[in-house]
Amino acid sequence: MAGEFDLINKYFTHQQVTRSDVALSQGDDCALLVAPANTHIAVSTDSLIAGTHFLEHANPQWVGHKALASNISDLAAMGAEPAWVSMAITLPSPDDDWLEGFCKGFFELANAHDLQLIGGDTTRGPLGITLTVQGFVPQGKALLRSGAKVGDKVFVSGYLGDSHAGLEVILQPSKQQQPHASELERRHYCASSRVALGILLRGQASSCIDISDGLVSDIQHIMQGSNVGAKLHCDKLPVSSELIEFTQGKRIAQQYALKSGEEYELCFTLPSHLVESVHQAARQQNLMITEIGEITDSQRLSLFDNGQAIENEMLGFDHFRS
Ligand code: ADP
Ligand code: MG
Repeated sequence: MAGEFDLINKYFTHQQVTRSDVALSQGDDCALLVAPANTHIAVSTDSLIAGTHFLEHANPQWVGHKALASNISDLAAMGAEPAWVSMAITLPSPDDDWLEGFCKGFFELANAHDLQLIGGDTTRGPLGITLTVQGFVPQGKALLRSGAKVGDKVFVSGYLGDSHAGLEVILQPSKQQQPHASELERRHYCASSRVALGILLRGQASSCIDISDGLVSDIQHIMQGSNVGAKLHCDKLPVSSELIEFTQGKRIAQQYALKSGEEYELCFTLPSHLVESVHQAARQQNLMITEIGEITDSQRLSLFDNGQAIENEMLGFDHFRS
């Protein structure tokens, strides 16, 4: 687009190159990268499209954060350490205010993970960002969806449900009056990245996935990948005190936790004999993990509330029906 090179130079080339595995960053036809020995390169692509994944008038700093956080989350879920990212961005017009905010959110998170922007493409069109991230994981140590075994315990990181509450605040103006509405909206955009936990789980977790579609949906990917079933205890789902106040009750908050998407927390399975040592290691690194269920041989997902089996349909998922 007009002024494309000025725009690229102004916004996308100023990140200092500090990584020794980047032989050549932006400016030529390709970046040149040095692949480390004995390492798999984990690669993932995610798009964020205005109107679908965020509203056009959303805070651009949060959009920059979210675009990258959703990609980093895929690396975390594999136990990979972030290294390189490339960006294809489509802009309706070169809007300095928007670009400054977007770059702030994007580069703050990139720098926090020593993640180098190595190239991209900039075009004019409907607002959208597509990122490809690459990271390193020692060969044989990647966390797959396919290793869960009957009897393994199911865990999640952090708190679940906040992201869906934040989305409600964004889409339903009446919810802006509820307690912690603006904080939950911020959390919808600014999820934590669980890279440190993914690395800690290398060689420990039997399977792992990041929660992007919602726990109930994502755990089924582990079930299918591993050819097993799972049992979840809804009353054990970790929910924040802010969400409990927002939903006016822990039980409703836990219903949010079951289905809330774009959480970017990890769901993983651990063989029983590793539960204690992983708990301890997580505690030492200040990483919150909660046991919420176990892997079964039933091939189906069963939900329990205080020991009682409950049916999916009885969960009152009204908030999630479109
Ligand atoms: P080409 O015509 O060879 O595709 P471009 O004109 O698209 O090159 O881009 C020029 C340089 O700027 C390339 O090195 C490219 O990687 C980089 N670049 C373009 N857009 C971005 C962006 N959004 N983020 C990072 N680097 C970018
Ligand atoms: Mg190009």
